Amino acid sequence: MMESSSATSSAQLLKSMFGYDAFRPGQAEIIEAIGQGQHVLAVMPTGAGKSLCYQLPAVAANTRTVVVSPLVALMDDQVAALGANGIAAGKIHSGQSREQNIENWQKFADAEAKLLYLAPERLMQPRMLDALRRKNIGMFVIDEAHCVSKWGADFRPDYEALSQLKERFPNSTIAAFTATADKATRGDIVQKLTAGNCAVFVKGFDRPNIALAVAPKQNLKNSLLAFLRDKKHVSGIVYCLSRTETDKLADWLDFQGFKAIPYHAGKSPEYRREAQHRFMHEEATIMVATVAFGMGIDKADIRFVVHASLPASMEAFYQEIGRAGRDGAAAETLLLYSLQDMLRRQRMIFEGEGDDHFKMLENKRLQALIGYCETAGCRRLALLSYFDEIIDRCGNCDNCLHPPAVEDYSEVARQIIACMRATGQFFGAAHIVDVLRGVQNVKVKERKHYELKSFGAAQKIPKDLLQSLIRQLIAQGAIRVNLERYGALQITDKGQAIFSGNEPFMARIDTKPKRIAGAQFRSGHRQIAEDLPADTNPALLQALKDLRLKIARERAVPAFVVFSDKTLIHMAHVAPQTEDEFLHINGVGQKKLDEFFVPFVEVIRTHKRQEL
Ligand code: ADP
Ligand code: ZN
Repeated sequence: MMESSSATSSAQLLKSMFGYDAFRPGQAEIIEAIGQGQHVLAVMPTGAGKSLCYQLPAVAANTRTVVVSPLVALMDDQVAALGANGIAAGKIHSGQSREQNIENWQKFADAEAKLLYLAPERLMQPRMLDALRRKNIGMFVIDEAHCVSKWGADFRPDYEALSQLKERFPNSTIAAFTATADKATRGDIVQKLTAGNCAVFVKGFDRPNIALAVAPKQNLKNSLLAFLRDKKHVSGIVYCLSRTETDKLADWLDFQGFKAIPYHAGKSPEYRREAQHRFMHEEATIMVATVAFGMGIDKADIRFVVHASLPASMEAFYQEIGRAGRDGAAAETLLLYSLQDMLRRQRMIFEGEGDDHFKMLENKRLQALIGYCETAGCRRLALLSYFDEIIDRCGNCDNCLHPPAVEDYSEVARQIIACMRATGQFFGAAHIVDVLRGVQNVKVKERKHYELKSFGAAQKIPKDLLQSLIRQLIAQGAIRVNLERYGALQITDKGQAIFSGNEPFMARIDTKPKRIAGAQFRSGHRQIAEDLPADTNPALLQALKDLRLKIARERAVPAFVVFSDKTLIHMAHVAPQTEDEFLHINGVGQKKLDEFFVPFVEVIRTHKRQEL
């Protein structure tokens, strides 16, 4: 009976403390594993609901939880959001006075607050470690855990020191979370933080509410205007590659009547703080930014993300678009790419820091993204197969909505796969192409690959078409790039099916698609992602949003801390009038019922009277 009663109590806490009716994919399993005292590594995309996976067990436990978080802004938002649900949490960071830090520590020491947020370098100070050893610390939560690994997207030496926790606190559970970690990185994190003794969860990479589209970058400004035409009243991010590009584009958008804020590492810390604050708190702002903007942005109602040029890798891209639509309501993305951008990216990798192995990995990640750009099939399928998650076509990407022209390339695909088989699945795309085209180079001679049947089998097919077909095979999940084996191409089950003629291989003919950015965005996909259409009761929804903004301003918190867009859409739809009805809205828990029932229901009643 233990199990079912603990399961019910998690579900009860979910509603009473956090206001949610159901767990999101993965949450219940992770919470259960933590409850059983297992170390966990959870890889879940931004917005999937990682925080709840440790906050709920932290609240349920009779021990204390320490949360390691890299950024001040992130800690502030988390603590504010917890506070709004009536959960006390402490934080210690450099943005606060010494007195405030001491007071926060005291609250935690007295168990008035069960959670304490701090940065890794503070946690690992000998005095702090000593003080913690004297308290009962049930769990250490490592947020942004990919920073532990040199293979990860954002290695931080401060984070590496966290590998000592397992020995220093052998009785505490280690719960690590990240939005981005491929297989190699996951293995490294598990080794460092838990010496391999860890349950790994990779969950919920699918974000069906985010619409995906790619367009060639022919006229950036026209594409942007077309895309933004119906987005005057919402907030979003436009990512650029360089600082100059960022400043110029922000200026130009401003001139076009948008509220655009440039953001990059060349601006002063004060400027950046202010810019971020405006983006969080003001409505309908566009952040025009380099990648310097993003980590720790906890704004749930970002409605679009545009990439004005190609991101660094599939992971980077995924993380950047993942900032949109965290409230679960519909959001749109657009990636504009050109050959020049691609070459620029490759140069950046090869001229950048890191050893050859690192550069090779980065390049493979970039190639995967190019595959995403080139696919004729469902974009989401291409994106998710990179993260080992398998789906059917999504119905919410440009290719699903407006399928591009494709041709049957099964015969060439079979030749490619045959060549991979013949060479033992040990080689990358370049060598496979050379063998197929019958190129007599050193590698071919050394390995005697000129003796193979595949040698010269695709002599008549242009090199770039072969390369594109290989990228499309990767994008469709028929070939896998093995990062741990130096980027060797390997055949998947799907590849096998194509090889044996059980499945056709259809590929985009034109590697330079001629579709117009934004144009395919107009019609009917919004409802696919949303449980409820946003326009069932637009006047009431607006009134609810106005009230939310007023309350958020009074409390100096971001609007979504009060209620998410999705909650308000649900509320506008149901128009609750009793406490019971109000509590049934997804996103309303006991605390929010107590605080917000009166003002929100007042607005709903006024609205009803006006309707009569
Ligand atoms: P992550 O840390 O994975 O990026 P968050 O923990 O910030 O994501 O969660 C994103 C949003 O989803 C937050 O607004 C959070 O309150 C909400 N959320 C989390 N779990 C649930 C759930 N089970 N049902 C509904 N909303 C949820
Ligand atoms: Zn799709």
